[in-house]
Amino acid sequence: MDIDGKSLADEWLQLTKQKARNLKCKPGIAFVLVGNDPASQTYVRSKRKKCEEVGFNSQKIELEQRVSQTELFRVIDQLNTDPKIHGILVQMPLPSQLDQNAVIRRVRPEKDVDGFHPINMGRIVLGDLSGPIPCTPHGIIKILEKYDVKTEGAEVVIVGRSNIVGKPLANLLMQKTNPGNATVTLAHSYSHDLPAICRRADILIAAIGKPRLITANMVKEGAVVIDVGINRLDSGDLIGDVDYDNVHTKASLITPVPGGVGPMTIAMLLHNTLECAQKASNC
Ligand code: NDP
Repeated sequence: MDIDGKSLADEWLQLTKQKARNLKCKPGIAFVLVGNDPASQTYVRSKRKKCEEVGFNSQKIELEQRVSQTELFRVIDQLNTDPKIHGILVQMPLPSQLDQNAVIRRVRPEKDVDGFHPINMGRIVLGDLSGPIPCTPHGIIKILEKYDVKTEGAEVVIVGRSNIVGKPLANLLMQKTNPGNATVTLAHSYSHDLPAICRRADILIAAIGKPRLITANMVKEGAVVIDVGINRLDSGDLIGDVDYDNVHTKASLITPVPGGVGPMTIAMLLHNTLECAQKASNC
């Protein structure tokens, strides 16, 4: 059965909209966009559209491709102290002259709606889930909850160990929480015999960025398959990391691409922004 990430995201957006109405302030988010990478432009456009739908203020700050780190820090510092801005999102990837980790650290943890700041990441590792949780892993946790997927004692295999998906997700699923208490394997490009590792999974999560890398022979009968990948083919079509056509009959649940994890990522971004606004002294 397909997981309907779009409908679940719509539920979350409605909830966020209702909760925002009860605040003294209007939640505000600033998107900082460096250069004119078309994919980044598209991501920011769709996130801002959702902000509008839930009644948030959103601001886009565009900086030129060759902006210096000093100038970018000046912009972030201004947003850090702006009471109308509760969330700051610096769209990644950044041009090579900029130190991505330093940029992540510059955003105040209380406004870090991506959940990438070391303080917020560290909280997750320690099992404190009160801060912003990175949006894609958070969205996946909400999907598993909604579809009553039991994680306790489950074998979870995550393929991909990025800081934005694999690492935080592994930490969330291994916590002594529900969802959580899973036995987590984090696979990557150095893993030996990936098919055998994947076949162990009750829950298989692909966050690789390689079209259809996960084939039917890598999936256990009845497994839950979460496809994070977004790959654009020359035809313009978007496909995931999982060979959906051959895997969906084998999986008990599967997220399609598009319409699975993607919409939940944006819904969790707005949820994080709402929570940052709720904690702000002026709201
Ligand atoms: P990264 O490129 O940062 O990480 C990819 C990971 O996949 C790495 O850990 C890499 O291993 C691993 N990998 C690559 N090739 C193989 C292979 N052949 N076998 C096993 N592991 C492999 O990607 P992201 O985490 O940023 O994104 C992954 C995908 O998810 C992309 O398609 C991206 O567009 C999509 N995405 C979707 C989101 C959504 O909302 N749906 C949100 C974020 C990302 P190693 O570490 O050894 O290099």
